[in-house]
Amino acid sequence: MKNTNGHKGDALFYALSLIWPARCPGCDSVTQSRTKLCPKCREENEELDAACIGCGLPAGKCTCLKEALDLNLAAVYPYRNGIRQGILAMKFGERLDRADFFSLKMADRFRAVFPEAPVDLVVAVPLTRRGRRRRGYNQSAELAKRVARQLGVKYGRNALVKTKETAAQHTLSEKQRKKNVRGAFGVKPGLDLRGKTVLLCDDVKTTGATLNECRDILLKSGAEEVYCVTIAVTLKE
Ligand SMILES: [Zn+2]
Ligand SMILES: [Zn+2]
Repeated sequence: MKNTNGHKGDALFYALSLIWPARCPGCDSVTQSRTKLCPKCREENEELDAACIGCGLPAGKCTCLKEALDLNLAAVYPYRNGIRQGILAMKFGERLDRADFFSLKMADRFRAVFPEAPVDLVVAVPLTRRGRRRRGYNQSAELAKRVARQLGVKYGRNALVKTKETAAQHTLSEKQRKKNVRGAFGVKPGLDLRGKTVLLCDDVKTTGATLNECRDILLKSGAEEVYCVTIAVTLKE
């Protein structure tokens, strides 16, 4: 009896895996597990184990002093190869299933880097209204929601809001990026952050201008401490 059931179960699993094969959350190739990177992506995307918490970059590439950054950042991967593909699929291809994998990694990395951080609230970097209209969702909010669940902490929906429309950061130079986001964010009216420790989520840290600006406004609004977590950081090669 047991055998037959097992057999049926196996057959069903096999049939399902043909219709809906597990795909790598990075490069999207068919693989064994939905919850792990494929062997190729694992090999090509070494995690950032000992990165600087000021800027998220590996030792020897730290730009904290030059950029005056102090982000309290935990990031998981360099932004390249399959990780880049997975993030782009999540951002522009409506592959929100990727957010499950990435948020798990983000929560794990955050806890590994800041084991004692007493987080009260998880928030996301907001999208411009234009961006949300185009995509229908904010990938950072999708990540933040899931990271909050992983950590067992409250998620602050729309805690941060965009107060002015800005140009897409990736179209600008480093200098322009800082200027572009200055004064671009605000805290939701009525949200009391006094004494709270906040965890800010985004998909990729590039220059850090956006995270820095969001962190600033959270601190100015009374937050006791602000930490950041991202899936990836861009490395200058
Ligand atoms: Zn892969
Ligand atoms: Zn640094």
